[in-house]
Amino acid sequence: MRRTSALIVGGGPAGSAAAITLARAGSAPELLERTSGPHDVVCGGFLGWDALGVLDRLGVDAWALGARPIERLRLVSAKRMVETRLPHRAAGLSRRTLDEALLGAAAAAGAVVKRGVAVKTAEGLRRVRLDSGEEIEADALLLATGKHELRGLARPREVVSADPVVGFRTALAPARPLQEALYRTIELHLFEGGYAGLLLQDDGSANLCVSVARQRLNRAGGIEELVAELSSELPWLAGRLGDGRAGAWVAIAGVPYGWRARSTEPGVFRLGDQAAVIASLAGDGIAIALSSGVQAAEALLRDGPEGAGDFQASFSRRAARPLAIASTLRRASENALSRGPMMALLRALPWLAPIAARLTRIVGEEGSRDQAHPPGRG
Ligand SMILES: Cc1cc2nc3c(=O)[nH]c(=O)nc-3n(C[C@H](O)[C@H](O)[C@H](O)COP(=O)(O)OP(=O)(O)OC[C@H]3O[C@@H](n4cnc5c(N)ncnc54)[C@H](O)[C@@H]3O)c2cc1C
Repeated sequence: MRRTSALIVGGGPAGSAAAITLARAGSAPELLERTSGPHDVVCGGFLGWDALGVLDRLGVDAWALGARPIERLRLVSAKRMVETRLPHRAAGLSRRTLDEALLGAAAAAGAVVKRGVAVKTAEGLRRVRLDSGEEIEADALLLATGKHELRGLARPREVVSADPVVGFRTALAPARPLQEALYRTIELHLFEGGYAGLLLQDDGSANLCVSVARQRLNRAGGIEELVAELSSELPWLAGRLGDGRAGAWVAIAGVPYGWRARSTEPGVFRLGDQAAVIASLAGDGIAIALSSGVQAAEALLRDGPEGAGDFQASFSRRAARPLAIASTLRRASENALSRGPMMALLRALPWLAPIAARLTRIVGEEGSRDQAHPPGRG
């Protein structure tokens, strides 16, 4: 058995943000990430102004990575389209690029980053066993496995099965009509049981993500069949899909929207989606991941492993309002009875959308300023 002071399991935005913060303070945390190189992630790729602010403070310049500016939100249903300005500039960036940049920044800051290393189980509170059989005991365990459960520290099973949602992601090849339609814009196509999100990302392709209730997916028979159904229901979405060729889909099941960890085990800090899962149409999961990673690391540096309980309770309180508002918006947009009136209301009072966008942010206005970016980049 090997001992270490701070062990971070998972190298998504949450784990990397914690690793950068700890390493910058002079402690050399160990981060274990099961993927061995750049990979696609089920995500819309939308970086809100709050996420951009935290990234900037972590020394990661999203614009230098090729992020595309986003200034408008376009909501689309079968019959209506509503467009509004976002309160601040946001960005579209692929997770393949973002996650690698964050892991690189963590290693550069002095964290020990190990790729291709999967943790199999947590045995006892701060002891883990790797797939290789090796055991590691840590003073503090930072759990950042995202939507994946780690045996021994998993979320209660009923949390995931209460409202089963499946997420998908693919890319549409760069095409001029798609580039023009999505110029500085994020599009959310709303349908019964879910939504499809589209934005331009760093390599010029369009990121297409779909969040759908498992029941609806099962009725359709699969993602390809669902997309075919949606294409006949949603003419604007059909137009977008016709412009580009879909690549391979990546999927994640059991997304527990609205869940948050109100407490934790001694010495175990739960970060990112292991701390709070916001309905993805709010586009704030990455900001929550980054922010929880930074705050957990700061709590560990200040209070030691015993600070885990207070950190978890306080982060859970902070996440409560954005999560509740995002869940309400999700329910309203996924149900035919409320979707029509909601779209009509937004059309009449378009300034409501930026207010909703502000209220679903985890980091307040003080932490989110517009970031300078190279002029003219589309
Ligand atoms: C359909 C959909 C669309 C979304 N769109 C957006 C969006 O546009 N904007 C936004 O802000 N948020 C969005 N989100 C939410 C966002 O993707 C998540 O909130 C965010 O990725 C959480 O980050 P994380 O670091 O907690 O977890 P993750 O990003 O899931 O990272 C976890 C990491 O841990 C690793 N890991 C897992 N288990 C182990 C193990 N046992 N051992 C070692 N490593 C392990 C994984 O390989 C992964 O790299 C979306 C979510 C969905 C489902």
